Amino acid sequence: MKSVNPWEEARMRLESAAKQMDLNALLHARLAEPDRVIEMSLPITMDDGRVKTFHGFRVQHNNILGPYKGGLRYHPRVDMDEAKALAFWMTMKCAIVDIPFGGGKGGISVNPKELSEAELERLTREFARKLAPVIGPDKDVPAPDVNTNAKIMDWIRDEYETVTHTTAPAVVTGKPVERGGSLGRTEATGAGGAIALQSILKTLGRDPKGMTVAIQGFGNVGSHLARFLQKMGCVIVALSDSKGGLYIPRGIADLDAIERCKEQSGRIAGCYCVGSVCDLSNMESLGGKDIQPEDVLTLPVDILVPAALENAITKENASKIQASIVLEMANGPTTSEADEILAEKGTIVIPDVLANSGGVAVSYFEWVQNRRDEPWTEETVFKALEEKMQLAASKVAEVAQARKCTLREAAYLVALEKLSISSR
Ligand code: NAD
Repeated sequence: MKSVNPWEEARMRLESAAKQMDLNALLHARLAEPDRVIEMSLPITMDDGRVKTFHGFRVQHNNILGPYKGGLRYHPRVDMDEAKALAFWMTMKCAIVDIPFGGGKGGISVNPKELSEAELERLTREFARKLAPVIGPDKDVPAPDVNTNAKIMDWIRDEYETVTHTTAPAVVTGKPVERGGSLGRTEATGAGGAIALQSILKTLGRDPKGMTVAIQGFGNVGSHLARFLQKMGCVIVALSDSKGGLYIPRGIADLDAIERCKEQSGRIAGCYCVGSVCDLSNMESLGGKDIQPEDVLTLPVDILVPAALENAITKENASKIQASIVLEMANGPTTSEADEILAEKGTIVIPDVLANSGGVAVSYFEWVQNRRDEPWTEETVFKALEEKMQLAASKVAEVAQARKCTLREAAYLVALEKLSISSR
């Protein structure tokens, strides 16, 4: 199978949206390439005394709307083209959810699970020192993404402040709450996805109660989304991680127990929980079965949620997808070829640039709280998130209806319209 280049995919989305509107040629050119790309060598001393060099990336795609904003990913697959695509999607996302940030993204090509905590901290601090000249509260504000978290953001803030001799909590978002983070940031992407889904279902006249859901990826985004969907009355029937998954057609009741089991065993497969006991002995009584990672995508469910990495839904598996709704919580989970197959089948795809924009919305709220030195209550954060997500979803749905196009095409039109107005 030919691997799909995410940056080429992102460029194709831009070209197809540009064709549908009278996109100004200068703006088109500005969006077709990132403003700046930075590649860093990151040598560190490992615990055994050897020196090992890792590679880091930061892409600053566009800052028409405000400082570059976007996550840092630690994963062996991280490279410049992936970072460019993710940064481009951030530019679109910030425009759709209407926050004054541009698009950025970066990361390190590394499997952090192979590093000790001390090695991870040394690598992160080296990365922060190399990033320091190009990031800052008014320049570029990183955040967590795959395999990065609040602790890593705090190391970056600390190193940045040391290098620049400043106090600058707003240099990163997704920090620990006691170190300037926002209440609700960890759950924000999942919460925002649930609100986007609810808003789109409303326009379709469908009730989330009783709808069955399969989720690929049970990390930060997938695990919080699962809880919000359960609260809305959806029935979570399948969960997976990179090693495998489980399928319980009558529904997975206790997500906390599954999370504890995954933490202890390092995998989700086998986590059949009855009371405090989570193991294979309960599989039969729950009517469940273990599944391969790829099987989660093609189960007979109402809603499929890719919440792991890019290119999960491809032309090879798109025709086998049975869900009538795909809620894209991962960035770039559907290739453009797969997108066409889904559109032909009438599958409704709630696109990544809308569905997962709750994370960057609350990152913006965190940045505002830091700038004003004014912590918000959780209630204030979720109320503001709900307003932003509902507004973004209804704008996208309106454009889709008016132009008789897909939600993805509509989302890009909303983003490009906003960028056009702001760049005049
Ligand atoms: P995470 O590292 O917390 O979790 C990723 C999960 O995906 C893990 O459970 C991992 O095991 C799983 N996974 C990896 N490969 C898989 C495979 N082939 N099949 C099934 N599962 C697989 O990362 P996250 O922060 O939850 O991010 C997930 C996605 O959401 C990414 O695409 C990220 O860019 C996107 N996203 C994250 C945020 C955020 O706030 N964290 C915001 C917007 C978008």
